[in-house]
Amino acid sequence: MDDEITARATAAFLGLALGDALGATTEFMTPAEIKTQYKIHRKLIGGGWLGIKPGQVTDDTEMSLALARAVIETGGWNLRQIADNFVAWMRGKPIDIGSTVRKGIRLYMNKGTLQVPLNEWDAGNGAAMRMAPVALVTLGDEQLLEHCTLEQARLTHHHALSDAGCLCVGRMVQAAVLGADRFALHALTRELTEEFPTFRFNKYKGFASGYIVDTLQTVFNYLFTTGSFEECLIGVVNQGGDADTTGAIAGMIAGALYGQEQLPCSWLKKLDKNVRQEIEELVPQLLYLSPLGQR
Ligand code: MN
Ligand code: MN
Repeated sequence: MDDEITARATAAFLGLALGDALGATTEFMTPAEIKTQYKIHRKLIGGGWLGIKPGQVTDDTEMSLALARAVIETGGWNLRQIADNFVAWMRGKPIDIGSTVRKGIRLYMNKGTLQVPLNEWDAGNGAAMRMAPVALVTLGDEQLLEHCTLEQARLTHHHALSDAGCLCVGRMVQAAVLGADRFALHALTRELTEEFPTFRFNKYKGFASGYIVDTLQTVFNYLFTTGSFEECLIGVVNQGGDADTTGAIAGMIAGALYGQEQLPCSWLKKLDKNVRQEIEELVPQLLYLSPLGQR
């Protein structure tokens, strides 16, 4: 695999973890509360409502790792193995778990269901936060990306807006890993907003909840109004709300876009060492298994 691609892919997955660890501090806070407490929150200091250690990650990164491990354990995409790894992760009493995620995993445990029924309440961001490894293992095949995205998303979330948001995030990560610039990424957001105008973000209102529309508007707003990985992530997490997840999604796209050299050293040093090491080991294996890697 091309070194540049491997570096950008690694930056995407590390970017997810950095955004998660950074954003966990301000999760569920308002921008005004964040300002009062931190002026600008810009370091991996931990804390937050979960009381994490500096550099510790939450469910966003943990589920992405569980998915990536499942793919590598089976030597390819295997939805049942992914579901089994989610079960094992949930049984390990994670520090945090979303209600929609818990419901989906429970349904699989009880009934073996690999696709939850369509549900109007499933438009959360919990499937989109797991997209980094999906984008990497399907690199080089857009149809495979689509197939795997919908399969993994609907293990827990089954809603047209979640589906569309996950696909857009996956396409953006893949394009950026392959060297696309911000204009090409913006064009991918337009494909989304043309199909679902509710995702439009040109007049960003500052909502950053766990609703996939709020989440992606926050991510896109800061991605396209800033000029560096660090600036983008700081903007996103200081918006509060579901800050660890907006941070995680912004981190995977911005990581791929700006590349490994732009990940702040001070953040990387603080990031949980086991998480960093595992990501650096998993990414080349995901790329090796991808259609591009098998060519
Ligand atoms: Mn989280
Ligand atoms: Mn969250």
